[in-house]
Amino acid sequence: MTPNTDLNIALFERAQALIPGGVNSPVRAFRAVGGTPRFIRRAQGAWLWDANGQRFIDYIGSWGPMILGHAHPAVLEAVHQAARDGLSFGAPTERELELAEEILGLLPSMEMIRLVSSGTEAAMSAIRLARGATGRSKFIKFEGCYHGHADALLVRAGSGLATLGTATSAGVPPEVLQHTLVLEYNAIEQLEQAFALHGSELACLVIEPIAGNMNLVRASVPFMRRCRELCTQHGALLVFDEVMTGFRVALGGAQSLYAREIPGFKPDLTVLGKVIGGGMPLAAFGGPRAIMENLAPSGAVYQAGTLSGNPVATACGLATLRQIKEPGFFAALAARTRALVEGLEGAAAAEGVALCADSEGGMFGFFLLPELPRNYAQVLRSDGARFNRLFHGLLARGVCIAPALYEAGFVSAAHSADDIAQTVAAAHEVFRELSRQ
Ligand SMILES: *Cc1c(COP(=O)(O)O)cnc(C)c1O
Repeated sequence: MTPNTDLNIALFERAQALIPGGVNSPVRAFRAVGGTPRFIRRAQGAWLWDANGQRFIDYIGSWGPMILGHAHPAVLEAVHQAARDGLSFGAPTERELELAEEILGLLPSMEMIRLVSSGTEAAMSAIRLARGATGRSKFIKFEGCYHGHADALLVRAGSGLATLGTATSAGVPPEVLQHTLVLEYNAIEQLEQAFALHGSELACLVIEPIAGNMNLVRASVPFMRRCRELCTQHGALLVFDEVMTGFRVALGGAQSLYAREIPGFKPDLTVLGKVIGGGMPLAAFGGPRAIMENLAPSGAVYQAGTLSGNPVATACGLATLRQIKEPGFFAALAARTRALVEGLEGAAAAEGVALCADSEGGMFGFFLLPELPRNYAQVLRSDGARFNRLFHGLLARGVCIAPALYEAGFVSAAHSADDIAQTVAAAHEVFRELSRQ
């Protein structure tokens, strides 16, 4: 890879002069793993091609949305057709209703929905709605969960339950964080303590039910049951951030999986994004009518967006959802994802490399650890240097996983058995190298 012939290097140099860090979202910059990010020229099915024309099997899937694979013909056709009728009207359209009906039909916890343009916006708005509906200010979030980059959410735990959290970004005034309680994921005792201390002041508890922003970590069923019970008991809303898991881990989202284990289980509010836009900027939040009617113009909680419910984005989302509703879609996707995970586990075991992995639907995570972590502190025990060698080893062999060990991975319906086999073979070679040093 000489600088003269590597167009990624040239493009990245140009980008760094124009855009901070050369990227429009930080994780794309490869800071965690080192090296030059690949500039993508096009994508088809399970594959990406970079500026040099090198092909990669893609397990990032635009960080979640591309559940059908890239450039799916039915989705492209829907987008082309919608675009021919105009790109944006700033007025209601029938297609927004079709998308709303489609989503509400799949997620029975939601009676009403509002469409927005990004997961950040959806999560931020859901928290404002929870505060407006309850008349309370405080809320709980968990260390390692990501809910977008709104000020009050960019916080990590302080040194104890009683201490305030600290901002994870410059530019966030401490006063903005005074209502955010940050707890350890899956820690029932801490949760009970927090409700005992602050229960009557809590507007909501916001959680990624299957966290995908500290790699993949599941909330245990007893922990989720306790979250539901305590929220109900104290009049706080349970907010499921399913931006990543919605229509990704199952057709009914992660909430359908917990409802299988906990009779009658449902969250109060659900936040969606990624898959519902099928690759276009579209996100949403929703819940029971009585809560949602607090939103302007029916209620006093303000929320708005120039491009909300955009006609091209809704066409893209609708076409995507109609594909994933096909009978057997999730069974096939889950089987393919499991084949990948089991292949990686087998290859690592064969080379004596400690690796554990988990998957649900089309989402997976693996750790260079002897057992699956249950919270962020345990995820941090992963060996970053070893992960980076794995990342670059795979990339050199044409396999693209997320350039940071804190990210879940995604398999699409376009990943073939052959793609999986090639990936496992590439990983096996890298594990062999790892085991030698
Ligand atoms: C990606 C993500 C968000 C933020 O969505 P954006 O569209 O990137 O703003 C929020 N919550 C979760 C769980 C996510 O994975």
